[in-house]
Amino acid sequence: MSATVIDPALQHAYKEVLRRNPGESEFHQAVEEVLGSLGPVVKRHPHYLAERVIERLCEPERQIIFRVPWTDDVGQVQINRGFRVEYSSVLGPYKGGLRFHPSVLLGTVKFLGFEQIFKNALTGMPIGGGKGGSDFDPKGRSDAEIMRFCQSFMTELYRHLGEYTDVPAGDIGVGGREIGYLFGQYKRITNRYEAGVLTGKGIAWGGSLARTEATGYGTVYFANQMAGEVDDSLDGKDVVVSGSGNVAIYAIEKVTELGGKVLACSDSSGYVVDEDGIDLDLLKDVKENRRERIKAYADEKGGRARFVEGLVWDVPAKVALPCATQNELDEDAAVAMVKNGTRLVAEGANMPCTPGAVQVFQEAGVLFGPAKAANAGGVATSALEMQQNASRDSWSFEHTDERLHEIMRNIHERCVETAEEYGRPGDYVFGANVAGFTRVADAMLALGVI
Ligand code: NDP
Repeated sequence: MSATVIDPALQHAYKEVLRRNPGESEFHQAVEEVLGSLGPVVKRHPHYLAERVIERLCEPERQIIFRVPWTDDVGQVQINRGFRVEYSSVLGPYKGGLRFHPSVLLGTVKFLGFEQIFKNALTGMPIGGGKGGSDFDPKGRSDAEIMRFCQSFMTELYRHLGEYTDVPAGDIGVGGREIGYLFGQYKRITNRYEAGVLTGKGIAWGGSLARTEATGYGTVYFANQMAGEVDDSLDGKDVVVSGSGNVAIYAIEKVTELGGKVLACSDSSGYVVDEDGIDLDLLKDVKENRRERIKAYADEKGGRARFVEGLVWDVPAKVALPCATQNELDEDAAVAMVKNGTRLVAEGANMPCTPGAVQVFQEAGVLFGPAKAANAGGVATSALEMQQNASRDSWSFEHTDERLHEIMRNIHERCVETAEEYGRPGDYVFGANVAGFTRVADAMLALGVI
């Protein structure tokens, strides 16, 4: 089952994407999802078609692929592949994270970069879209190996970056430690303390308070706002979260603060379910400090906590926050969740729900918040980090968090208003795609054929 029907006026553009990017199924999926919303827009604004805005948007401004050689702890030379896809810079410098995971291919980076354009536009901030990464697997690697890899990666990438050009951040497998090594190497090669060239930095060296928390918190602010549309909130609700990385941990923290109870979370080995609610201190210790598998949580917690090898979506809950990775929640899982009483889904990860799953949720009247709106708090706070760097300032946690909260409220409002304007009330997928697209498309027209 596919949720997406592309208007005949856009079929040619989509077919060209398939023809020119063979085998890049995640990229095709991301393009299909956006184009699926744009039929009514190009009917109302035919000049977008005449100016070939959509074809232009589907082609990245620049794609960089490079070799990353490094030496492991036993002296063996290792070779990885590095990517940076600089997608669109009409709204500002390319902005988007770096992912280090063995599954990373060019098509992965293109799907993420394409999504990033519209997400960044939705924030209302002056940032373009880009994404990067490598097929390097940080799991099981020593700190010294991670450092050597990051240094080699940056030795090529630095020439393409700059605070006014391209500003990467973290993503899967890239957290504060990796950003530190990357920033150190950039500084060393360029002999410039250019703090605004990377975001997600440590607080002592140019980072922003609340950036670590921002994607998870932002997703929960958005979900709470969605619940508010039906006069409800997360207070008192059971919640399941997938993943136990950066986004998941801070989503769990905010849900708990707002009075919800997180029953389960996961990693790629399985999930833990804890009827008493996930103990955040223990989870952070297992995952952030010790970098262990999720089973360690259940082993140490005991009581009503247990580890299960399977999909976290088997745990019944009113609210679901997929915060791990793309296509982790499929149609079968969605059908079971609807039967089990799930009423709200907000995507913390990028494209975690398959098109079939999205369709199941929408047809069942489940409130569904797509990633490009729901998880935009991370990149928005990265833009706040850039603001602080540009003014040589650092803001308090409370101030930054309040700005994040306000940005999420605004994104929510933009999605709701745009969906209503086109007669699709409650359709956050449509609202997010159209509001994001329109801002980028209008800027492209204003800047001419470039
Ligand atoms: P992390 O690397 O911190 O955590 C990723 C989590 O997802 C880990 O628990 C990991 O488990 C799990 N995971 C990864 N791959 C799989 C898989 N194939 N099956 C099951 N679980 C998996 O990454 P982040 O939390 O930063 O990112 C999570 C998602 O959020 C990604 O989609 C990312 O693009 C998106 N995102 C992140 C932002 C940020 O600011 N960090 C901003 C916006 C979006 P394991 O350790 O076993 O691999």
